[in-house]
Formats: sequence, C-alpha cells, structure tokens
Amino acid sequence: MVLCYDPRPEGRCGVAIKYELLLKNGEVIDPGDKRRGRYDIAFTNGVVAAVAQSIPAEEARETTDVSGKLVTPGLIDTHGHFFYGYQPRFGHPDDFCLPTGVTTAVDAGSAGCSVFPALRDRVMRQCATRLFAFVHLSSNGLNKETTNQGELMDMNLVDVDQTVQCIRDNPEGVVGLKVRIDDSALKPENALPALELAREAANQAGCRIMVHVSRSPIPLSQILSFLRPGDIVTHPFHGSANGPLDAKGRVRPEVLQARKSGIIFDSGCAKVHLDLNVCRAFLEQGVLPDTISTDGSRLDRSYTLPEVMSMFLELGMPLEQAVAATTQNAAAAIGRDAELGSLRVGSAGDAAVLELQEGDFAFGDRAGNVLKSRHRLASVLTVKSGSRWRKTC
Ligand SMILES: [Zn+2]
Repeated sequence: MVLCYDPRPEGRCGVAIKYELLLKNGEVIDPGDKRRGRYDIAFTNGVVAAVAQSIPAEEARETTDVSGKLVTPGLIDTHGHFFYGYQPRFGHPDDFCLPTGVTTAVDAGSAGCSVFPALRDRVMRQCATRLFAFVHLSSNGLNKETTNQGELMDMNLVDVDQTVQCIRDNPEGVVGLKVRIDDSALKPENALPALELAREAANQAGCRIMVHVSRSPIPLSQILSFLRPGDIVTHPFHGSANGPLDAKGRVRPEVLQARKSGIIFDSGCAKVHLDLNVCRAFLEQGVLPDTISTDGSRLDRSYTLPEVMSMFLELGMPLEQAVAATTQNAAAAIGRDAELGSLRVGSAGDAAVLELQEGDFAFGDRAGNVLKSRHRLASVLTVKSGSRWRKTC
C-alpha cells in the first residue's frame, strides 16, 4: 500500500491510496450490472475495484472528472477485421478500436487455419486491444484483395480436420468458426456444402458459428436451419436478395423463431452489408440487434462502433439497449461475459467514456439511403485494463 504525500499544510497526508484510477461523476450505463445513474468507478490491478456514489479522490493516484459524460463498460466490437499486414484493407486494431472506446474486438474470420498463427502471433498477442478471432472455414481466410478470388470459390480450400485442430489449439483467443454465404465468396451450388462443412467442423470443435448472410444465393431460412442456439448471424439487415423481410416488409417468421431459439443477430455494418430501410423495418417491428458491430478495420473506411450505435439510436433503439448490444450482449455472444462487458467489481478494468454530441450528422448505406441525425456518440476517454489508454506512437 502506498501513502500519499501532500505538501500542503492542510493536506491529508496518510490517506491510503487504494486505487490507480478514479472516474468521478459520470453517468454510468452498465446493463450487465443493472446499473444506471451517477457513480464513481475506481480501478486497480487492472480490474474494476469499486463502484459507489462517492469515492474520495484522495484514495486514487489519478482522478478524472467525467461529469456530463456517459461511462459504459469498455465497448466490444463483435465483428471487425484486424489481420494487419495480411491484406491492404486490414487495419491495426489499436488504431481502430481503442481511440473509439472499444477495448475488446473480434476478428471475424480474416484468417483460416493455415494463416491463423500469423494473426495470433503478430497481432493478437502484440496489440493492446483485447482481440479474439473467429477462424474462417476457408484455410486462407479473406484474401480476395490479393488473389482476386472469393475465399470459397475453390472448395478444396476447406480442410475440416486442420480447422478443428486450429480451433482446439487456441482456446484462449478463438471464439468460433466463420463462414460467408455470399455470392462473392462462393458459387451458389456450394452454399449448402459450405454450411454442411461449417456445421461439421463446429460440432467437432465444440464451438459457435458466425455466418455472414448478406448477398446470399440461398434463402435465409436454409441458412438458419444449420444454426444452433449461440450461433451468430451477421449482417442480417442487408437489402440484397434472400433478405430477412418478406414481400410486405415484415420480419420473416423464421427470423423471429431463430431469435427466440437463442440464435444471435449481429448487426455488422460496413455500409455494403447494411440497409438503413431494413434496419428501420426491424426496429419498427420491435426486433433489435442482439449485438452491434462495425465490420470495420480502418478509420478512413468504416464507421466506428460509437457511430454505428448512433445510427441505431437515431432509428429508435433505446440508449441502454445500444449499450447492452456492445457490452453485456457482446461479451455473452463470445462466451466471455464472466470477465468482460460489465463494470461490476472484479471485472476487467475496461471502460468507455462517451459524450452525446449535438450537430448535423449523416450516416449512409450502400443503397444510397442517408440517415440524418442531430446527435452522435463519440469517445472522449478509454480505460483499458485499469489505465487511461494513450496512443504511444
Ligand atoms: Zn466482415
């Protein structure tokens, strides 16, 4: 225990410093701990050490007043691409995530089993962002930029045994198997075989599947029939053929049934795989995404996670639900909710300090729809593992 030194005669020498960092006076939104209101949060030894209505500043080595700001658990981006160095479009997670309040991110299948060790050793184990990954069913992962070919155009690139081994060998970082049922990824006749192989590999590895459903050559109901509770559908709000709405614009009953059974619906974004009108239809019918994610990689190309949250807020999603979708629900979706996604005492010491900015903002999609908004969430401070995150280079 360290005692503070305060040279002022009226100082309170002898007050024990209990905490490394204290965030004071923030409006805390922590659905995972069922907490909403003005609280102080203290961190020490990399974890949340105390949450209370008032924690004396004298007890902390560093105190930041966050009056008027929102404080949430560190945000979790359940779908991004961070295999830095593999393809030109993949950015570094520390550039895309930490400046935007995201402390945990999930690489959604940029690497398959043959290149996963490079993602693990060069990025996941080196970066400050807490990075997990889905392993792609295609051994080489997403390498279309350099090969000019969709990752499953050649089904010989699937090696179920090696994929299962890769997932089993990396339990600390791998959270599941990824497959894309997209006409740019595979030939239409290979959509069902790809799903069969994905199901077989996931069953053997005992892991969840994340399936990309945008631009699918087969009906969504066929894709959903391969999924089990805990599996994740990403990009459900796309506006391409075989979409989630029927001809009258209603959410298809099989989508409602899938959600009821415990299949998780992850927004994704990346503009190309999200249609604002489809999102609006879902929200108007009371069907919210379980998790909100960017499908992003680089700040110059993608919306940040607070921006994607802002889109959903503007479309009518309540703030508390949008925070749940990027904290509590996201942590549960990757099976890490015991330690992540909440500010309860003992959790990882990750927090996002956000502000709701006023101005004229616009969010666009691939179809050319534009959503105008008077508000936008923006990150003002990120706490990672109990310390203020600062860019070091
Ligand atoms: Zn993606």
